[in-house]
Amino acid sequence: MIYLKTEEEIELLRKANLLVSATLAEIAKIVRPGVTTRQLDTLAEQFIRDHGATPTFKGFPASFAGAEPFPASLCTSVNNVVIHGIPDDVPLKEGDIVSVDCGTCLDGFCGDSCYTFCVGEVDEETRRLLRITKESLYRGIAAALPGNRIGDIGAAVQQHCESQGYGVVREFVGHGIGHDMHEEPPVPNYGRPGTGKLLKNGLCIAIEPMITRGNNAIALMPDRWGVTTRDMSRAAHFEHTIAIHNGKPDILSTFEPIEAIEGKLY
Ligand code: MG
Ligand code: MG
Repeated sequence: MIYLKTEEEIELLRKANLLVSATLAEIAKIVRPGVTTRQLDTLAEQFIRDHGATPTFKGFPASFAGAEPFPASLCTSVNNVVIHGIPDDVPLKEGDIVSVDCGTCLDGFCGDSCYTFCVGEVDEETRRLLRITKESLYRGIAAALPGNRIGDIGAAVQQHCESQGYGVVREFVGHGIGHDMHEEPPVPNYGRPGTGKLLKNGLCIAIEPMITRGNNAIALMPDRWGVTTRDMSRAAHFEHTIAIHNGKPDILSTFEPIEAIEGKLY
């Protein structure tokens, strides 16, 4: 069932999401060659708890048989890892990219946002992947208007990425968000315009293109969490939580503090 949010609930969701954005901005300050993803995770968990929230991902139940609950506060997915990478002690290297997905629960509402960071100097082809993926997120958001349908969002993302020769991952999708991190409806990054559930004021969703430089085929990693491209091509992942609010998309998370720290990269 789709649960539409009140004005008050949208403001609580905004607070939880701005805390995610502030956490990702803390990551932006320290991500560089030599830093480990476990160090990013430790910083994020402390920052989230210091602000009176809990990291939603920590202890999140596994979707695949044989996996333990998620052990960390961030998903850190490096290079060919698309999503759900478990933080570890491997230092990031010059030229890597790392997608950092973060979730908080604050006053009973969830925040969820992801940003793909460059580690030092990154090659031109990779920067282009990041730019197109981020653009596709905003194109999907622009389609999230009352009266449109879920398929309009996916079609906007898909058209932008596939026209550039990139792969759109199909098996993982965006989602409704509220008291729970994952609510109805699913929000695919592909689709046909004018199809799927009708979008209405009060609908709160996470839109999160997961885009590959090569083929869109993916594989589960041996830890039963991480998801990699099969062809080992690099992947990017950007995510915002939005509300459809007063007749237009209202972005509840923000990349502004991250982009202010990064400067112009691509
Ligand atoms: Mg996320
Ligand atoms: Mg999400």
